Amino acid sequence: MERGRRIVKQLEGLRMQPNLLGEALDGRPFDWGAARALLDGLPSGKGLNIAHEAVDRHASGPNGMGTALRWIGRDGTRRVLSWRDLRTETNRFANALRRLGLKEGGRVFLLAGRIPELYVATLGALKAKCVVCPLFSAFGPEPIATRLEIGEAEILITTATLYRRKVEALRPRLPLLRHVVLVDAAAVDGTLDWHALMTEADPVFEIPPTDPEDMALLHFTSGTTGKPKGVVHVHQSVVMHHVTGRTALDLHPGDIFWCSADPGWVTGTSYGMIAPLTNGVTNVVVEAEFDPQTWYDVLEQERISVWYTAPTAIRMMMKLGTEPLRGRDLSSLRFLASVGEPLNPEAVVWGVEAFGMPFHDNWWQTETGGIMIANLAAMDVKPGSMGKPLPGIEAAIVQRDGQGGIALVDAWMVPGELALKPGWPSMMRGYLHEEARYKKCFVGGWYLTGDLAMRDEDGYFWFVGRADDVIKSSGHLVGPFEVESTLMEHPAVAEAAVIGKPDPTAGEIVKAFVALKPGHEPSEALRRELLGHARKRLGAVVAPKEIDFRLNLPKTRSGKIMRRLLKARELGLPEGDLSTLESDER
Ligand code: AMP
Repeated sequence: MERGRRIVKQLEGLRMQPNLLGEALDGRPFDWGAARALLDGLPSGKGLNIAHEAVDRHASGPNGMGTALRWIGRDGTRRVLSWRDLRTETNRFANALRRLGLKEGGRVFLLAGRIPELYVATLGALKAKCVVCPLFSAFGPEPIATRLEIGEAEILITTATLYRRKVEALRPRLPLLRHVVLVDAAAVDGTLDWHALMTEADPVFEIPPTDPEDMALLHFTSGTTGKPKGVVHVHQSVVMHHVTGRTALDLHPGDIFWCSADPGWVTGTSYGMIAPLTNGVTNVVVEAEFDPQTWYDVLEQERISVWYTAPTAIRMMMKLGTEPLRGRDLSSLRFLASVGEPLNPEAVVWGVEAFGMPFHDNWWQTETGGIMIANLAAMDVKPGSMGKPLPGIEAAIVQRDGQGGIALVDAWMVPGELALKPGWPSMMRGYLHEEARYKKCFVGGWYLTGDLAMRDEDGYFWFVGRADDVIKSSGHLVGPFEVESTLMEHPAVAEAAVIGKPDPTAGEIVKAFVALKPGHEPSEALRRELLGHARKRLGAVVAPKEIDFRLNLPKTRSGKIMRRLLKARELGLPEGDLSTLESDER
């Protein structure tokens, strides 16, 4: 689809006056102090705490009995929590943590599907000023153990099944993990029972003074090399979640909001929990797995007005066409947004055909803690573009000069690395215990995002690709190193290299190339065994879907495997600069 295409917005045509008008994006100064003033702050000037803004503030306001969380279970069970209910539950959990000896700064890890306890635990732990780290429940034992180790987990909240399948055997590796709480079963050996803890706990809790710079959330993300990175976020990030909820997602009082992302990833926490609650908007949580029919049921039956979803989901819907939408009443819907991977221009336009409005793409990443670039409700949409930087966000395209510096690209549609000027409240404060890795992200006063992008003459940004070898599969960031390391634990594997292979639905799938040790021959049985080995340890999201055998893998003179070359060959693309190639696969 050509770049010149635009979906023109007319304010009269929109069902609601958008919170932020397009012209606010064009060079107007932005005051973060004014953004902070939209929030309450702890009583008596005791600082800023995410859970106070998300829960207590509304619980004691006029909408205290309004619905904060509407949960729809897999079997259709519904549970509704008002802000007051949520205040009581989160108070109990904060007290339970104290009783278990968790101090301020203590690490609380969560491993569960989208169940109400996950939301109570997150907000309760934030009240107790513990640090919350959500894990994705589809991870296998290996990624879970690595993250619990790096994050120095002291307590894990999970389900009996996940515990038995994925954690129990690892406990000897985790001496710091003092408690495991099971939300859905009586305590078994070495675990505690959520319900018993909550029943015994006091329903009143006063949030201690909280410095806006106190650590609040730890989200893991993956790089090309090395272990996963623990991205540190502080309570101050709530300013960004709140403001971008209003601007990028256009949340208004009375909205019924649904973010289909899992809280195991940053979107599911920042926007599947914090942003709607701080904005006093009903947050719908759906436990069921991804499936277009279920989504349509949810949109219709729950009267969703704002839906935040992802390209993989949109592509799954597109595959079925608009037929399943026929006869449905989706009149409550007024704003659609998407994040996490490149959104095909066709998908944006399909939104108009299917729902009468485009999907609004926006861009951000775990490190930025909140949406940076977005297509706003009031803005014309250029299908295929991520939109424009939000107020207070300065973005640029830069190129590295080869001597450790960067130069700004001020031409239109010339690709370079997407860079952001630090200063917004939700920027990461570090990678846990990895100062050097953190510092490397900043050059010449800019934060380099690791993404390649271009800017057009109207200030819209266009995603080009990753600057590194990290893979995005169904919206989940997968670090090749983690996959390669697991494959190499198999006795038959000498070397492994992992790439992202384009896929029409998932965006990319994880594909591995493997060289075998002497004495092992490639075979279909061995391929299946390796796929099974990886899946068991890494979980379905991270494990490779395809494995090819190679005699050798192409390497640079310094011994690094050239994933880029494997990818180019896989896709039949030009092989590029081979001057550093030392040994080849052939
Ligand atoms: P994560 O930290 O897991 O949220 O992943 C962040 C990465 O996802 C970004 O650095 C991009 O590579 C990719 N991403 C996020 N949003 C978009 C988008 N709207 N278009 C293209 N890529 C995106």
